[in-house]
Amino acid sequence: MERQFFDCIVIGSGPGGYVAAIRAAQRGLQTALIESKELGGTCLNRGCIPSKALIANAEVLRKIREAQAYGITTGDISFNYEAMKERKDRVVEGIRKGLTGLIASNKIHTFEGYGKFSSPNEVVVIGKDEALLEGKTIIVATGSEPKELPPFPFDYEKVHDSTSLLNITELPERLAIIGGGVIGCEFACLHRAFGVEVTLLEVLPSLLPTEGKQISSAITSSFKKQGIDVQTNVAVEKTERKGDSVLVHISGKAPLEVDAVLVAVGRKYNTDQIHLDKAGVIVEEDGSIPVNEHLQTNIPHIFAIGDITGKWILAHYASHQGMVAADTAAGHLSEMNENAVPSVIFTKPEIGTIGLTLERAFEAGYDATVGKFPFQALGKSQAIIETEGFAQIVIEKTTGQILGAQVVGHGAATLIAEMAVAISSELTVQSITETIHAHPTIAEAWMEAAFLADDMPLHLPPKVRR
Ligand code: NAD
Repeated sequence: MERQFFDCIVIGSGPGGYVAAIRAAQRGLQTALIESKELGGTCLNRGCIPSKALIANAEVLRKIREAQAYGITTGDISFNYEAMKERKDRVVEGIRKGLTGLIASNKIHTFEGYGKFSSPNEVVVIGKDEALLEGKTIIVATGSEPKELPPFPFDYEKVHDSTSLLNITELPERLAIIGGGVIGCEFACLHRAFGVEVTLLEVLPSLLPTEGKQISSAITSSFKKQGIDVQTNVAVEKTERKGDSVLVHISGKAPLEVDAVLVAVGRKYNTDQIHLDKAGVIVEEDGSIPVNEHLQTNIPHIFAIGDITGKWILAHYASHQGMVAADTAAGHLSEMNENAVPSVIFTKPEIGTIGLTLERAFEAGYDATVGKFPFQALGKSQAIIETEGFAQIVIEKTTGQILGAQVVGHGAATLIAEMAVAISSELTVQSITETIHAHPTIAEAWMEAAFLADDMPLHLPPKVRR
């Protein structure tokens, strides 16, 4: 096998890897990008994009169903799920085509195959392309895949992971979801919008347990109104096929009979098959790779980015890490700001969060307070009939520094961007109150929440002063 030399080899072309490859090439490094499946990784092919395409369908359907409230009369409403799935596939294919061109235009050398280390500087590619690559620097961006637990083995026909559930062409009548985390909650809303009977089973006392009490309780009450059967504190023992249905055995309860199950209990890091031991890279027991602020592993010319760093499983975080790693690999030392990582969940209502919740701010020793503004009190929200939810800003009392922000409601995923700028720029609450927010917009909720945090409420009555 002929040896090929590169300044930078990137293993994995998800939102971490392909962004790292583009940045490395822009910095003048001869760059190789190795991918064993489709370009774009989980996000484009099996995660963010296909799920958001389907969620857009659900959103249109919801608005049509609510048309009467806007004075619009419709006839019978029906939909074709297979056509929706095909639209989703076309969206993904179109973006993948664009990405292929983008990578080529950056003169990145792509290899189709599975990359494995054979030494600290060598990667063997096995697959459609067979190659031996030698790199001055190597960026590992191999991502993660759905975790399978022995009591609920995937058969990809009735017991699904998130990937196979995205590819069904016919909706089940009854769906049980094991795991009330991000994926479980997003799919629960999606399927419920299409009329599926959804039971959401979470082992811990609340849904989205990592998001804090306020968000968990807002989302739980909204889900219940939508007709989702939310069951928390439940121990699911196993799933069992019974003819065309599946029995979900739950400790202390009668078995639940459904047509399909989604198992969404977390993800497993793809680090066990790539021979990191041959490169001398340290891997933690859970499969994650420890890195420093420049994303270097214990072997300084080998970087790890994305899910495998074991911090956030978020596409945009991986992309940012990709840029930091590639810059550092090219000699432009760069580092991550871990305090300003927004997270968005595409449930109905949407959720956007960044930084500390009030509970976490207290735990971290801050003298903190919060300003919380309900969308019900916002003109634009009333005008468009999207009054569910709230926006809140957590600040340090004496300095006014913004420590965190949470928003639940229409457009939350977009709204959180303002707070990402505020926190990454270390702004104070006064920066928000002094910024003229266009009217009527939903973004005014931040200004109103900032007024409240600053104890100067505008469109809510003043607090009773002691
Ligand atoms: P998760 O960690 O978010 O949630 C898993 C949930 O399953 C937890 O609440 C956990 O308590 C529960 N659980 C575990 N074992 C269980 C059992 N036996 N019975 C019942 N409940 C059980 O994992 P996920 O939802 O699979 O998502 C994986 C990752 O992907 C997450 O880190 C998430 O942030 C990321 N992701 C992000 C987005 C987004 O940003 N919008 C979308 C999808 C996925």
